[in-house]
Amino acid sequence: MADLLSVNNAIELVLQNCPPAAGSEILSIQESFGRVLAEDLPAPDDSPRFDKSMMDGFAIQLPHQVANPQSTYEVTGTVTAGSGSSVVIRPGEAIRIMTGAEVPPGVNCVVPMERVSILDGDTKNPRSIQVPAEVLSIDACITRKGGIIKAGSPLLKKGVRVAATHVAALAEFGIKNVPAIRQPRVAILATGDELVDAASEPNAGQIRNSNEPMLEAQVKNCRCWPIPLGIARDNREELAARIRQGLTADVLLLTGGVSVGIHDFVPSELAAANVRKVFHGVKMKPGKPIWFGIYETAPAPQQPPHRCLVYGLPGNPVSSLVCFELFVRPALQLLQAQPERTAFQAKLKEDAIVRGDRPVYHPAVLTLSKDAAGITAQIIPWGGSSDVCTTASANGMALLQPEHGPYKAGDTVEARLWTEFFHD
Ligand code: AMP
Ligand code: MG
Repeated sequence: MADLLSVNNAIELVLQNCPPAAGSEILSIQESFGRVLAEDLPAPDDSPRFDKSMMDGFAIQLPHQVANPQSTYEVTGTVTAGSGSSVVIRPGEAIRIMTGAEVPPGVNCVVPMERVSILDGDTKNPRSIQVPAEVLSIDACITRKGGIIKAGSPLLKKGVRVAATHVAALAEFGIKNVPAIRQPRVAILATGDELVDAASEPNAGQIRNSNEPMLEAQVKNCRCWPIPLGIARDNREELAARIRQGLTADVLLLTGGVSVGIHDFVPSELAAANVRKVFHGVKMKPGKPIWFGIYETAPAPQQPPHRCLVYGLPGNPVSSLVCFELFVRPALQLLQAQPERTAFQAKLKEDAIVRGDRPVYHPAVLTLSKDAAGITAQIIPWGGSSDVCTTASANGMALLQPEHGPYKAGDTVEARLWTEFFHD
């Protein structure tokens, strides 16, 4: 751990060693939510599929090139949404029409209900109506077939992360087979003789394994597939067996056992399992002992080579969390052909001091100000890298650099969210 890398160089090394997106698979519309499209999808059909009324009102046939169209119309029929339209219209007639209904042939204007005066009858049963001249224009309140998009035009782009709006577009066109990038599989292995499962009662000197469920949640947050492997004791045989199991995934996250303790066997067991070390140790706080390497199978006939990104995350929960956000998340993005989640600038709410000579990634409450002034960072009082309790009130982290400290309220710092949202 002699020469410590900078955080940026370490991220660069992770990205350089990250393979391209991990193949594709076909999903249903529902399954595709949150996933990344593996191909461009053209519109298979026109939208709308028929000439469509955009309002509840009256459909009429306007003569073309007449300066003063007539203002009174006799109501001769009704068309509702979903019924299809075989109704015939003649000049001087109006047909009651509902939003979303197919416009009858010959209709070239829909007049909204609220712009019409009923001359004979009532709103339930209008027999004749009067229409103000200014609402009579060709194709008013009508969307023609293909008026939104024509069959064959680009609909959704490859690389899009499917959101609710995309789901709606897929559903509108009945696209049942959605090509999506395969979810990276991320194995998670906690190590430590002191650990018991979160559901168990710890004996003297034991603690519950909080890293594994935390990392599982972070992996899900990155829309990847977590494979929890449980707890490996600090013994070489057990560690070696679990590491072999984890190396079949796209990414293997270990926690604990990467520092200089007498039971920190993770680096040597990873080396014994033929995982090539890329770096061990990054100049940062918390998270300094992080280990990163690559496992690759030799190319074999009929067998594509397999590559696994391997992380030895430090055991302290906040160190694990911070290292995940800085070094694991970018790889999980790349494995899904997604751009990196970038850091942004935030204004410190209060003065802050920086202790030591390493950059500090400090848990912070990041708030998007309501008045377009930008993002503010409130550094939280914090009990260090094992303190998940106060860390739970933060939604991200702010970078405090020793050479820029002490900081004053209002100073600009680099910040990153570790949740989906800013604080309210
Ligand atoms: P280590 O790097 O293994 O020496 O662990 C550093 C600290 O993190 C120790 O206090 C461990 O007890 C703690 N720790 C290690 N693994 C976990 C875990 N899975 N959940 C919670 N704390 C852990
Ligand atoms: Mg340990």
